Amino acid sequence: MEYGFVDSHCHVSAREFEQDLEDVIQRSTEAGVQTLVAVTEEAGEFSRVLQLQERYPDLVAPCFGIHPLQAGGGSEQRSATPRDLDAALPEFYKHRERLVAVGEIGLDFTPWCAPTQQDRDDQMNVFVRQLNVARELDLPVNVHSRSAAKVTIATMREQGVSRALLHNFAGKPSVALEGVRAGYLFSFPPAVCRNQQRDKLIQRIPLEHICLETDSPALGLDKHVRNEPSNIVLSCRHIAKVKGLSPQTVQQVTAQNAYRLFPKANRR
Ligand SMILES: [Zn+2]
Repeated sequence: MEYGFVDSHCHVSAREFEQDLEDVIQRSTEAGVQTLVAVTEEAGEFSRVLQLQERYPDLVAPCFGIHPLQAGGGSEQRSATPRDLDAALPEFYKHRERLVAVGEIGLDFTPWCAPTQQDRDDQMNVFVRQLNVARELDLPVNVHSRSAAKVTIATMREQGVSRALLHNFAGKPSVALEGVRAGYLFSFPPAVCRNQQRDKLIQRIPLEHICLETDSPALGLDKHVRNEPSNIVLSCRHIAKVKGLSPQTVQQVTAQNAYRLFPKANRR
């Protein structure tokens, strides 16, 4: 069976898509996208992603998650706190049947985002509790890790997580390979085409552990232009080039990988 593209991590419920989502979706479908694994960052977004699933039931596969960084008013971002999760928690259970994963969750120890030990402790609390929720709901996790590669993977292993996608991972290949040994998958957005920084990582991770993503509206080819799921073809081509494979092979294998990890997202 031929698969379309699976965008394993995107934010279609983001405000950036409110005005012209219909067109964005049409361009994705024309580009061959078959599934959008739609992550969320805060409880305020949950109802929107469920609405999108109702509108595009064969395409949108919703995930609930509390992102390690939350909007702090204005352009500021702050670390997530246990209170953010407390408020959101009942929603996970209420809509469990409709969720394909828990995400976007994770750790972001970028110094200006998490300057204090309290920030990092709070993020860890929110992350570990959501790993437990995922286990309880029998769902995989869709994970963000920045400036925290080693500790993210170590934490998931300690917590006995076996089904995880690490999105836009930028840690060392040796750390990624620890994740590979734990059974984790790694997805790469169009931004990896900007330079060769991530090529070594892509070379070292076996294709059976790679997925495609766009992280739309972020992480496109051009930092200043809104990214959208149709750009997944760019990630596919880049990974194919780096690995010396055909784009068709990368498309098919990454889609199979994504459906293995997110079985509820496979609507066929
Ligand atoms: Zn994201």
